[in-house]
Amino acid sequence: MQENNLISTVIRPEIRALSAYKVANAKGFIKLDAMENPYTWPDAIKQEWLKKIQDAELNRYPDPEARSLCNILKSYNAIPDGSELLLGNGSDEIIQLLMMALPANSTVMAPEPSFVMYKQIAQCLGLNYQGVPLLADSFDLDLPVLLDAIQKQQPALLFLAYPNNPTGNLFDSQAIEQIIQASSGLVIIDEAYAPFTDSSFIDKLPSYQNLLVMRTVSKLGLAGLRLGFIAGDKTLIAELNKVRLPYNINVLTQCSAEFALSQPEMFEEQTDILRQERARMFLQLSTLSGIQPFPSSANFILFRTPEGKANTIFNQLKERQILIKNLAPQQGLLTDCLRVTIGKPEENNAFIKALKDSI
Ligand code: PMP
Repeated sequence: MQENNLISTVIRPEIRALSAYKVANAKGFIKLDAMENPYTWPDAIKQEWLKKIQDAELNRYPDPEARSLCNILKSYNAIPDGSELLLGNGSDEIIQLLMMALPANSTVMAPEPSFVMYKQIAQCLGLNYQGVPLLADSFDLDLPVLLDAIQKQQPALLFLAYPNNPTGNLFDSQAIEQIIQASSGLVIIDEAYAPFTDSSFIDKLPSYQNLLVMRTVSKLGLAGLRLGFIAGDKTLIAELNKVRLPYNINVLTQCSAEFALSQPEMFEEQTDILRQERARMFLQLSTLSGIQPFPSSANFILFRTPEGKANTIFNQLKERQILIKNLAPQQGLLTDCLRVTIGKPEENNAFIKALKDSI
């Protein structure tokens, strides 16, 4: 059998049509492309952590329910009584798991532009994906259009990233409540950037059975652990739990996350600095001629470059060993747009200087 025949025999056409999620090689770069927290831990805390993982039993399977970690996550995130958690190997895995539970031919909906994995995973699983454009001027939800799309297409899942990636804004919260009320399917509020905003839907969980709130520890400073969770109605979580692989949160992740979340002051200190740096970067970007930054409640800033200049600027920054994210190829509302993650003050200064030199 020829290779092409083999591929078409064993791989579904919708998967053959996709491109893999590409991550740039950042070795040697100032890395401002992936919304990571740039800070590591003080030595004393590292030593304490090493002591803790020294006793981790790698010969044993992890606790399949990660009970102790679940309890810590519940209190760290002020999850209301009556709501349950489901843990994933990053929130990416939870998005996949939610979609795997859907009836065949279901529709998955999200505003656009938003986090690309909603569409990527839906397409991988052969589901109908429906993107609904955001408003061009503000990147806010186009409520009448979205409510109409919900009514006509009855999405089984609707994802709203809050704040949104890659635009950085918080959608109008009253509009979101209207959407939850108008949806017969599940509405997932993806709060991946929760450490950088004071707004949340967690306290609304008891009010709506079809509301789920998803979070991750990645942006807080633990991207390497791969740990996310979704919170919602107990009976719903119990159903979703059947789709989860039994040992999806490994021993080292459970042990390290438990330890790390016992250091809330350290993370607060780090995220406070990043919030201050976000404000400083926004001001600096606003003063650059031809650059239009968009207000952000996350740890990154989206900005528009002069017409047709995004690729050149992106490449010039790369030549100076600074890696950000080029969103211009996505076109539409992201035409001419680049996204920079907030780093340490010295990294941000190097970025601003390189950007000045390249416009
Ligand atoms: N949701 C949003 C909105 C994101 O931007 C990201 C990562 N960029 C994720 C979810 C996935 O995060 P993780 O898999 O690291 O938990």
